[in-house]
Parts: sequence; C-alpha cells; structure tokens
Amino acid sequence: MAHTLSDDENVYVSRMPGEPVPGGAQAFAIEARALRKVYKASGSQPAKEALKGVDLAIPRGSIFALLGPNGAGKSTFINILAGLVLKTSGSASIWGFDIDVNPRQARASIGVVPQELNIDPFFTPAEVMEMQAGLYGVPKRERRTMEILKAMGLDDKADAYARTLSGGMRRRLLVAKAMVHNPPALILDEPTAGVDIELRRQLWDYVKGLHARGTTIVLTTHYLEEAEALCDTIAIIDKGQVVCCEPKEQLLARISDKRLIVRPASPATMLPAALAGMKAEIRPDGAISVQYNPAETSAMAILGALGAEGMEIRDISTEESDLEDVFMQLTSH
Ligand code: ADP
Ligand code: MG
Repeated sequence: MAHTLSDDENVYVSRMPGEPVPGGAQAFAIEARALRKVYKASGSQPAKEALKGVDLAIPRGSIFALLGPNGAGKSTFINILAGLVLKTSGSASIWGFDIDVNPRQARASIGVVPQELNIDPFFTPAEVMEMQAGLYGVPKRERRTMEILKAMGLDDKADAYARTLSGGMRRRLLVAKAMVHNPPALILDEPTAGVDIELRRQLWDYVKGLHARGTTIVLTTHYLEEAEALCDTIAIIDKGQVVCCEPKEQLLARISDKRLIVRPASPATMLPAALAGMKAEIRPDGAISVQYNPAETSAMAILGALGAEGMEIRDISTEESDLEDVFMQLTSH
C-alpha cells in the first residue's frame, strides 16, 4: 500500500497524548454517511459494489470492531478513510474533519495499520519511524521514535534490519509507525490475521494499552473471538452493508436462546422422554444439554419435567449464546 502523502502535505498536528483535538464538538471519531464504493470493471473483472451505502458512527474513546467475513468491504472502508481509495459517493469524516473538505486534518487524525506487512527489509525500525515522522512533518524535537518503539516492545530491535524481524515484530512496527504523528484514532486492518496465538494476545495487550491511554481504536477482523475479547462496540458488515452496530453486551443480549446443562447422578446414555421435541443432546461426558428460549419456557420447567421422570440431578449450569450465534443469525451464513 503506497503512501499518498507528498512532501508538501505537512499534516502533523502538534498535540500531547490525551490532549483534546480540534474538529468541533462532534462526538464521533469516525462518521460515514451513505458511503458507497464501486470498483470499476477491469479486464475480465466485472464492476464490484464493495460498499452499498454504509452508515456508521464510531464514538470517540471507543474500542470498536468492524467485524465481517472476507470480501465484506472492511478494507475498502478503511482505505477510503486513509485516503488510499476514492469513494464513489456518500461522505465520511474523521474527528469531525470531512475527508473531502479537510483532507489533511482528516488524515492527521488517524493512524492506519494496513492489512499487509509492507516494510522495506533494508531499513531499521528507527529509520522507518524517522521517515514516517518526516513524511507527516513531525518536528524533530517532538519525535518519539524510541518511546513508541519501546511501547511496542521493539526498542532492542531499533537498529536491526527489518528483514531480521519476525512477523509479529513487523506487525508491531506497523502499529508503531501508525502512531508516529500521535493521532487520536488508530485503525488496524485485520491486525492478527496470520499471527499465532501468543503474539495475538501480545498485540491485543498493546492495543488495550493504547486505548487505556486515550486512543480511540477501530479494528477490522473476521475473528469473532477478537471482536468479543477486545472491543466494547461491534458493527457487523456483510456484502458491503452494515447489518448491525451496537454495544457488545447489547448484541449478545439480542440472542434469546440459552443452554441448560444438566448433569445426572449417573451419566445419561439416552435422552429422557421429557425432552422430546426440544433441542437437546447428550454430551461426551454424559451431561445433557438443552437449548431453550427463556420467553417460551424456563430452566425450572425443564428441571421439573426431568425430575418428574425420575432423573436424579447432580448439578446444573447455563450457558449464554456467543457472538458466533449472533453472527450466524444476522448474516445467515
Ligand atoms: P474485506 O477487507 O472485508 O475482506 P475488501 O474491502 O477487501 O473486503 O473487498 C470487498 C470487495 O471488493 C471484494 O469483493 C473484493 O474482491 C473487491 N475489491 C477489493 N479491492 C478491489 C479492487 N482494487 N478492485 C476491484 N475489486 C476490489
Ligand atoms: Mg480486508
């Protein structure tokens, strides 16, 4: 992904971490209205409507997930904000700056960590940071190269060639690079795709740290687990459309079904007649799992029916539905 900033585009806004940023009293970090993108046909490729009128308002201070399957339009959305893809119609603003009216201020207000690990192998992290700072016009005395590298756990690699860095380190270097101009919002496009579990958790911790220190975080992901573990607000995007956008807990609460797990005194070998017609199964450990809608029946009613059938119950527990269920319902994949 190439930079679109030229030398004369000095977009740096001098600002201490946590200091309020200009852009009016608008409450949103990012706001999109009826945002559309049609990629033109080329060669044998037909035209593609990647965004079909996206409305999205991302509150300042949030840690926000744009969740959706591959091809949903996540990168297209991010790249429009980053100034790398031209929108077809609609509007978008970043920290109150319209990307058409105030493109420089808009761009100065976000740092974008791209999906691909595009780092020149012959530069060191310190050099990468200094070049980026130069590109954004950050005055020398305000540069925080070592401070940011340290925060990303890369200070001992500051002078190593990028080609000697592991995938996880490169990803962290891209995060560091995106923070050079101290933007109030950081956007990460699939930050953990292809990153192993341990590094994924490490990266989550870094991102949480940045959020705790005041940076608004937007990340795209196709991992439900990631959105659930990291984010307070989740928008689900599918086929170029936002299918829902709400606080995580609210999203989870929308799912009505619950599961009741019953452990009989002796492991079950067949389903009790009382559960005929219900979504019930025997688990490998001999427990019985019953899916039910609390609006239609209650856990007590189910237990009562089992008791009436003579089952001796040792233990019970319930499970809530997770995001996976929500996602399936909303996108019907
Ligand atoms: P995501 O990041 O959610 O996987 P993308 O925004 O990359 O989705 O892609 C959305 C759709 O637009 C896909 O169908 C993809 O093939 C198409 N697309 C993305 N970039 C281009 C492009 N440069 N030219 C044509 N089609 C594209
Ligand atoms: Mg993508």
